[in-house]
Amino acid sequence: LVSLTNVNKHFGELHVLRDINLDVARGEVVVVIGPSGSGKSTLCRAINRLETIDDGQIMIDGEVLPAEGKALAKLRADVGMVFQSFNLFAHKSILENVTLGPIKVKGMKGGEAKELAMSLLKRVGVDNQAQKLPAQLSGGQQQRVAIARALAMKPKVMLFDEPTSALDPEMINEVLDSMVALAKEGMTMIVVTHEMGFARKAADRVVFMADGQIMEEATPESFFTNPQSDRAKDFLGKIL
Ligand code: ATP
Ligand code: MG
Repeated sequence: LVSLTNVNKHFGELHVLRDINLDVARGEVVVVIGPSGSGKSTLCRAINRLETIDDGQIMIDGEVLPAEGKALAKLRADVGMVFQSFNLFAHKSILENVTLGPIKVKGMKGGEAKELAMSLLKRVGVDNQAQKLPAQLSGGQQQRVAIARALAMKPKVMLFDEPTSALDPEMINEVLDSMVALAKEGMTMIVVTHEMGFARKAADRVVFMADGQIMEEATPESFFTNPQSDRAKDFLGKIL
């Protein structure tokens, strides 16, 4: 469903993505882990075309990611993204935050968008907060709204870039639980996270990045118990 072929990206002198080859099948959940600065966020941003690439190719559901224009907007709607910071519209209600995309981008009628939004908010357990403003919610609740907002666009794949790293510890699980549920429902997901519990519960595959390269790919079980590269061993030694 998502296919990266020989993707390279530089920031000036810095070679942040080096010959990345990655295929994610429909329904697959891939966890990306690796040290700070290894290129994980850049990889996610490239898949959503928030970042250009220097060479190589990214395909979503058989279509090459276009550079700009309407085609890009359409394809981008297929790729939902949830960031570390929730990025909700501060002056709009929770409900409006979720209905905005379907109405503006997909031309959905207000009533239909509201129905969809309420069902998604319910799915992540915050439907009782629909009339509030983002600031009135806890970080964990806001992040679940951000997930509902991304799902409202009916994406084919969901990207998560460290969705729980800005949260207080007691709120991490409520967000991870929503993500595990999504994974079990068959959503295709690429998740940058260091939450081993999530990887073990939900990931089909762990991809380990270092210095802009994919160093290692394995099942969570085999990666966590038997990492192959020294970089991975060193990294796991620091975080486990
Ligand atoms: P972290 O775990 O800290 O989030 P990461 O693996 O997500 O790290 P990236 O954010 O993808 O790493 O960054 C990879 C490298 O690219 C880093 O060295 C970073 O400083 C650099 N970088 C990222 N964005 C830019 C930018 N817009 N301009 C210049 N350099 C950048
Ligand atoms: Mg990052």
